[in-house]
Amino acid sequence: MFYYKVLFPLAIDYGFVYQSEIDVKVGCRVLVDFKGSERVGVIWSKTQKPAYTTKPILRVLDEDSIVSDELIGCLKFFSFYYMAKIGLFLKSALPRKIFEIKDEIDLSEAKANLEVFPKKFFKLTEEQRKAIDDVDLSRFGVYLLFGVTGSGKTEVYLKLIEETVKLKKKAVVLVPEIALTPQYISVFSNRFSKESISIMHSRLTKKEKFENWLKFKRSETSILIGTRSAVFASFEEVGLIVIDEENDESYKQENQPAYNAKDIAIYRAKKKNIPVILSSATPTIESLYKAKKGKFKMIKLTKRVGGIELPEIKFVKVESDELLSKESTESIKSSLDRSETVAVLVNRRGYSRYLVCEKCGYVFKCPNCSVSLVYHKESNSLKCHWCDSVFEVPKVCPKCGSLDLKEKGVGSQKFEEEVRGIFKDAKVQRFDRDVTLKKDSFKKIINDLHNGDIDILVGTQMLSKGHDVSRIGLVVITDFESLFSIPDFRAFEKGLSLIIQTAGRSGRKSKGSVIVQSLTPETHLSEFIVNHDYCGFYEEEIVSRKIFNYPPFCRLIRIVSSSTKSEKSLKLIEDVYGVLKDEFVVVGPSKCPIFKLRNKFRYHLIIKTTAILKTIDFLNKKIGMRNGIYFDVDPINFF
Ligand SMILES: [Zn+2]
Ligand SMILES: [Zn+2]
Repeated sequence: MFYYKVLFPLAIDYGFVYQSEIDVKVGCRVLVDFKGSERVGVIWSKTQKPAYTTKPILRVLDEDSIVSDELIGCLKFFSFYYMAKIGLFLKSALPRKIFEIKDEIDLSEAKANLEVFPKKFFKLTEEQRKAIDDVDLSRFGVYLLFGVTGSGKTEVYLKLIEETVKLKKKAVVLVPEIALTPQYISVFSNRFSKESISIMHSRLTKKEKFENWLKFKRSETSILIGTRSAVFASFEEVGLIVIDEENDESYKQENQPAYNAKDIAIYRAKKKNIPVILSSATPTIESLYKAKKGKFKMIKLTKRVGGIELPEIKFVKVESDELLSKESTESIKSSLDRSETVAVLVNRRGYSRYLVCEKCGYVFKCPNCSVSLVYHKESNSLKCHWCDSVFEVPKVCPKCGSLDLKEKGVGSQKFEEEVRGIFKDAKVQRFDRDVTLKKDSFKKIINDLHNGDIDILVGTQMLSKGHDVSRIGLVVITDFESLFSIPDFRAFEKGLSLIIQTAGRSGRKSKGSVIVQSLTPETHLSEFIVNHDYCGFYEEEIVSRKIFNYPPFCRLIRIVSSSTKSEKSLKLIEDVYGVLKDEFVVVGPSKCPIFKLRNKFRYHLIIKTTAILKTIDFLNKKIGMRNGIYFDVDPINFF
């Protein structure tokens, strides 16, 4: 008799032991009786006969492993590293459909003929040519492709993908969530036959996800383009991994298991001895540091393709009660006269930031979360942007009964309204999560932009994400200060990155311009921004990271307690703190910036360590997975 641990895609941290008369390969799917019903699981490992009686495996579904040894090893390591349940990793790693199919899945190789369409009339710049030559496709290496916006980074990695497939290998391209638009895919399908591309993102149906996954696994497709979970795809015969916009926060999963796809990609690439390309105009400070220290190889693109200059960036003073400064209004007018499209960045979606009682100062807050509700005029409702609850707008103040309720602060909706009021003849379009949630609306807006059917685009952070819209001649960034007001040691990095990326949307065809509205234009950051000097910013930022001991000079582990009862949550974090306080440098414990979230009260503490694996090992042994305690290793957000 053989004994196996079978794992299910559930919130569990171990496999269940089953027996079999025949030898089964690790990584195969099996049908077993689990708590009285038939369930599909994956053979996770061989094991010894346990002391208790075990149930038999009812049926072996696959002849070959559906999960490779390499992926199993990777999931095991990251379950340890991120201190998250292995079952949740299994759930993230494989398409859900795999656990519903109770027959064999045909994994036999079905190699497709990949067609490469050479790009006509296109000449690489010298910098691009050198960048391509610098990458050694035959072995592991992390390359930081650091190029100003519009410098043709995409062309560099497209060419490298082309070389990879010529070597009969496959390529995985990770992209930020929002970037995976039809426009993005068309860049690839203009280059490679559509049949050779698999796509993976959260908006696909269960069936589509499975089909794309399977085609790539069977080598029917040679290129996989996907958002973060694509990092768990089958890596057999993969020869290159590209991570586009490597600074994008969507590579980090915030829910359990809280993992970072960028780090997992590098880990798997190292095991497979293949190169990884990290591409960005504003790399993270950590990546830049590694490149400067020689851990990553730096590849720089300093010039825009076609010799077009970077946009001119100007700071203008805005009064606190103004939405658009006089200068911004004038500039927008002259841009419109030149038939250029104008993009306006508003840092917040919704109509206003909050609703307040003018008489007693009562602010309407979400009853589930300790944040103020955002007024949405279109639906005349109050929404919580954290738990997505929607409330009716009250007529009177619940505290003092006054009717004098007022919206304060500005969101994208109010801005849109204001802009329509000033530029009466202009075609104005809003571009935020609320608008783009509707099916195909994203596509329509981008198409309209390309066709010149939009004069002014009022958008949130979405504006900054890689849409190559050559018509945009002017970008106005409103409310500079708000970009930096987050409780986060990376606040400057994130703010600066957003400004540079948004500014990069302008002037792709001819020199564009950017206006940054600020209450205090003379900040120390303005010089770096005006000069497009991200490296200069890095030099300054790295000094303060060192002084205050933040990454890349140490690693962080955030531990969060969470409970419906405030006292219980405090007790949970204090117990953890008791175990840690004599062993590590610990910041906190303290209330999370958003203390109440989805009806749970939350405390957190942060460990600073230079021996990450030793620290994680300690945490696994001394604290382990407890109810109400969550770990976030290498956190990106601190809410
Ligand atoms: Zn009141
Ligand atoms: Zn809420």
